Amino acid sequence: MSENDTFLIDYHCHLDLYPDYQKQYEQCSQNKIAVLSVTTTPRAWARNKELAANCPNVRVGLGIHPQIIENGKTELPLFEKLLPDAKYIGEIGLDAGPHHYKTYPQQRETFEKILRLCNCAGHKILTVHSVRAMPDTLRTIEAHVAGTTNKVVLHWFSGTPGEAKKAAQLGCYFSINIAMLNRPTTPALIASIPPTRLLTETDGPFTMAHGRPALPSDVSSTVEALAAALKMNLQATKHLLCTNLAKLEGTKAK
Ligand code: MN
Repeated sequence: MSENDTFLIDYHCHLDLYPDYQKQYEQCSQNKIAVLSVTTTPRAWARNKELAANCPNVRVGLGIHPQIIENGKTELPLFEKLLPDAKYIGEIGLDAGPHHYKTYPQQRETFEKILRLCNCAGHKILTVHSVRAMPDTLRTIEAHVAGTTNKVVLHWFSGTPGEAKKAAQLGCYFSINIAMLNRPTTPALIASIPPTRLLTETDGPFTMAHGRPALPSDVSSTVEALAAALKMNLQATKHLLCTNLAKLEGTKAK
């Protein structure tokens, strides 16, 4: 794979949450970054699919974000209706942080239901949020995803090196962002993840770059920081990430 064959990968961002989201779709299309644009509600699916229709490098995820789950309300019927059209699922997952703990039982129910629906469908790629809920997230993945044709990418993984090893055994990939790489625990974490399971993300606009919400093109800094953490040169790191993506998506790697 030569320099011309590699490209940047932002495998978890929220293009529809930028004020100029139409422009963001156009820019992603022009700069050829492989983007997975996740949604937080199935109500956002149709508009995002429409915007991505002319952007072959932008994938759209069908999601129900754990942070927007409200007790007594469910968006699962719409999710289920749209699922046959969605190859990518997310943002989904669990959040036991202080602002969302009160909906945690419903989050778990929703997450498990989504995984069951995905099992019936098969061949989905899931981008999974897991804040203060890593043991539960891994247990749920082990029970409902491991051994199926569906694949999980853990977004902004915040567990221990031991949990990373466990996740890798379950077949998970990891999308790494710049905030994860700026922590003192980074070397141990990166060392615990098989290099063949690494991807990159921005989680824009929820992370910052150059004093403003990060854009998919800012993922270049993440690739540089990841190369340093892996003690690999930049081109070899880009090659590794593109090969990992091709393997995850079942497309042929060069
Ligand atoms: Mn996100």
